[in-house]
Amino acid sequence: MNLINMDAENRVVLNVGGIRHETYKATLKKIPATRLSRLTEALANYDPILNEYFFDRHPGVFAQVLNYYRTGKLHYPTDVCGPLFEEELEFWGLDANQVEPCCWMTYTQVGNPSTSHLGELGSIPRLLSLGFSRVAIFTDYAYHP
Ligand SMILES: [Zn+2]
Repeated sequence: MNLINMDAENRVVLNVGGIRHETYKATLKKIPATRLSRLTEALANYDPILNEYFFDRHPGVFAQVLNYYRTGKLHYPTDVCGPLFEEELEFWGLDANQVEPCCWMTYTQVGNPSTSHLGELGSIPRLLSLGFSRVAIFTDYAYHP
């Protein structure tokens, strides 16, 4: 077996909401005990003719999910709201608390209904001391209906 064939065998196609994402099986094993780390061809959503898995989920959020497997860093997609992001992460078996610090403000500003992140970050003075100059915006909008 040459290297090119090995490469093809290790590749996996994930069709999420009609958008095909391609990666390596090894990449999906990087985050254990998640939906993607446990993929097997016995699953009902595996299509042996197309040789791909189909998930009827948000393709935009999935791009960030897959990037998390590739890089080990979870960033917030800019075009979705907090609850949608959380719901998608839950489906993929991922933890929203893994969002990178650079995206914390985006994540909380758009209306994350849970207070867990604020609790983890601490008080508003602590946020200010961490350099969050937009705390005022955060408190105004965090629980906006
Ligand atoms: Zn980020």
